[in-house]
Amino acid sequence: MSPILPGSTIGFLGGGQLGLMAAMAARSLGYRVVVLDPDPSCAAASVADEVLAAPFDDALAAEALAGRCAVVTFEIERIGIQAAQAASRRAPLRPGPGVLEVIQDRARQKAFLAGRGTPLGAWTAVTNAAEAAAAARAWNGPVRLKASRGGYDGRGQARAAGPEAAEEAFLSLGGVPCVIEQELDLALELSVLVARRPSGQTVSYPAARNWHEDGILSRSVMPGFLPANVEARASTIARHISTELRVEGLLAVEFFLTRSGSLLVNELSPRPHNTFHATETACATSQFEQLIRAICDLPLGSTEIVRPTALTNLLGDLWLGPAAPDVAAALACPGVALRLYGKAPRPNRKLGHLLATASTPREALRRVSEARLLLGPA
Ligand code: ATP
Ligand code: MG
Repeated sequence: MSPILPGSTIGFLGGGQLGLMAAMAARSLGYRVVVLDPDPSCAAASVADEVLAAPFDDALAAEALAGRCAVVTFEIERIGIQAAQAASRRAPLRPGPGVLEVIQDRARQKAFLAGRGTPLGAWTAVTNAAEAAAAARAWNGPVRLKASRGGYDGRGQARAAGPEAAEEAFLSLGGVPCVIEQELDLALELSVLVARRPSGQTVSYPAARNWHEDGILSRSVMPGFLPANVEARASTIARHISTELRVEGLLAVEFFLTRSGSLLVNELSPRPHNTFHATETACATSQFEQLIRAICDLPLGSTEIVRPTALTNLLGDLWLGPAAPDVAAALACPGVALRLYGKAPRPNRKLGHLLATASTPREALRRVSEARLLLGPA
């Protein structure tokens, strides 16, 4: 197989912030960029050579996109499977439609993982309120209900303290097929990113350590200063999954470490991941450049840590308060960088992030928190 060389055109299904940053990496490497997104002024439009405005399930539009491209990738799982298949008939879609099909449905994803011996917390697929109540009764404790399809950033999820609340939670999500999980007693959260080329070459990044608030990532740091055996186990599991799924591109694996010491997979994302934005300064190769190398079948870059880096997300709420964020104050902090995606502010919407580098991950976390406070409240 020959590599897809600079000068060729790369297609992106989805033009949000992940598409924007991946498109910037593609442009830096000398590729042309075409984006398909329902919103013609999506974040990635500012760096794309061309934008096709169409819904994510528009098979004709996906096929038209692929017809202009040497390779196509996606930044969002919510691509209609027929659209993905249509694109893949005209140009290689990397990762392929089969990966998308497994991952875009939580129940199917969990069944795939369970079938390959991956450690998971207790879960079951439910299609009605009585099944949700029965699962919560069997576990005798709090549960998390998650819509099988379409959720992100904690949306499409509900927590319930027991069986009756589980019934209500199921109905509050609209009565759609769900996965119900036992709520775990977490010691910490981590993630591993794997890059894999069509030729099979595979590299993985050191684990990131992550903190969530209300189901949304708030902070993350690389390296994750984790016990060596936890890091090694997570890396082995993530690489194994990427091989089983035959991923071409990136695969992010989110993990839970419970207080009793179990390392469990939470979920998969076959694309760049929020918890690896820090790779921009933490590693020799950013996740976005790595994605472009992987889908173009070029040699993968080093994933070595060159400088500890912490990240904090900036949500729309920061722009909706009485005063504009104090950008100058945040940027005056040593080692701090600001990334904004050009999206309109809405509550809980990710509009940008701050990065802070330092000589240790703890110091990087301290700096990024300080810079965040200087930006303003909320
Ligand atoms: P994202 O798209 O941001 O990754 P998501 O909407 O897919 O989020 P999950 O990853 O399923 O949501 O859950 C978000 C967070 O909620 C987790 O990172 C964790 O902090 C918490 N959480 C989810 N499931 C459980 C569970 N079973 N037990 C304990 N905490 C959980
Ligand atoms: Mg998650």
